[in-house]
Amino acid sequence: MPNSEPPTAPAEVRLRDLRANGVPVEFVARVVSLQRREVTRQSDGSRIPLLSGLLSDGTATVRFTWWDPPREGIDRGTVIRAVGAEVREFRGRAEATFTWKTRVGPASPAELPRVDTEEMPVRTVKELASGDEGFRLEVRVVRIAPRPVTVGEERRVVHEGLVADASGMIRLTCWSDFGLATGEAVRFSGGYLRSFRGRLELVLDERAMVNRIEGEDLPPVAELLRSPSRSIAAVEDEGGGPVVTVEGVVVGLLPPSGLVYRCPQCRRSVKSGICRVHGQVEGQADLRARLVLDDGTGALTINADRAATEKLWGVTLEDCRARLRELPDPSLLEEQLLEAVLGRRLRVRGSGTKDDFGVTIAPESIDRVDVDLDVAAEELSMRLGERS
Ligand SMILES: [Zn+2]
Repeated sequence: MPNSEPPTAPAEVRLRDLRANGVPVEFVARVVSLQRREVTRQSDGSRIPLLSGLLSDGTATVRFTWWDPPREGIDRGTVIRAVGAEVREFRGRAEATFTWKTRVGPASPAELPRVDTEEMPVRTVKELASGDEGFRLEVRVVRIAPRPVTVGEERRVVHEGLVADASGMIRLTCWSDFGLATGEAVRFSGGYLRSFRGRLELVLDERAMVNRIEGEDLPPVAELLRSPSRSIAAVEDEGGGPVVTVEGVVVGLLPPSGLVYRCPQCRRSVKSGICRVHGQVEGQADLRARLVLDDGTGALTINADRAATEKLWGVTLEDCRARLRELPDPSLLEEQLLEAVLGRRLRVRGSGTKDDFGVTIAPESIDRVDVDLDVAAEELSMRLGERS
C-alpha cells in the first residue's frame, strides 16, 4: 500500500525556540523593521526583489530574508503567519528565510504567542546583553526627551533617554510614547536589546509594557548620576558612555570657539554669511567653547554650549557683542576666552562619544575644581620622594 500519510505540517514555534536543524517551521510574528532591495541572480543576471529585516514575537527578535516578496501589504508592524519557513544560522543566531516553498499570510496580533509578563525573568541593567528579549526590568528614568526621526519616508518621534538601577545605566529608545518622566520608577516588560553604533541600548516598541512602581530599591536620579571620575585613557578605551565624569586641566581651545554665527534654520555654523545647506542666511550670534581637557593619561574635547561657556568665562554673549563693537576683531575674543580658561582644572560630567578625533563630551555639568595647595604640595613631594 502506498504511503498515504499526509506530509507532516510544520510545528508552530516561538521565535526563541528557532533552531537551524533543517526542519521548516511555522510561526506568527510582527515585522519590526524592513528593507526592500533587489539582488542580481548570478545564473541569468535577472533581478530578484528581496525583503529583509527583523521579526519579533515577544520571545525573541530574529532577522528574516524573504525572496520574491509581495509588492505591497508588508509594512513595519504587520503581523504575519509563516508556514514552512526555513531556519538558518548566521554568526550563532537563528534567522528565518522565506522561499517559494514558504506560505506567508497576514495574521492578527491576537495570534501572536501569549507571553505572560509574570513568566518573564527579572533582569538587572548589568545583566543585559545585545539580542536579549522577553525579560522584566525595574529601573528609574534618569533622562528622557523626544526626538523627531525619519524612518524611510515616515516621520516619527522617538523618546530617548537613560534608565538605571543600582547595577548600571543604559540608553533607552521608545518607539511609542509611554509618557515617561525623569525620576519615575518603572517596570518594563517586553523590551529588547540592540547594539547601535557600538552602544548597547534598550528598545521599547508598541508591544512593550510599562508599569509605574514604587521603586524603593532604586537609587534617586542624583545618586545614579553621581559617577566617580575616571581617567581619560579609560574613557577613551570604552569609547565614551552615557554618563562620563572626568577631571583634568584645560590645555587648549579648538576652533570654532568664542563668538560664532549660526544658521537660524539648522543651527549649523555660518561662514561668510553662507550656510552650507540653506545658502545665504542672516547668521545668529552664539557662544561656544571646544575645550581640550588633559589629565595626564590622555586628552578629550568638551563641547561647551553658550550657557556653559558664559558660566566658565564669566562673559556673556551680550558682553561679547559690546566688546566687538569697540574692537571689531572676533579673534581677540577667542584669545580672551583662551586666556580665561587655560590651565583651569575642571570636573566635567556628560555623555561621551568617540570618533576618529577622539572622545567628545557633551557636558551636563562643568565644575571648577579648586586645587588644594597643601594636598598638591604633598602629592608633589611624594612623587619627588618616589624618584629619589
Ligand atoms: Zn542652515
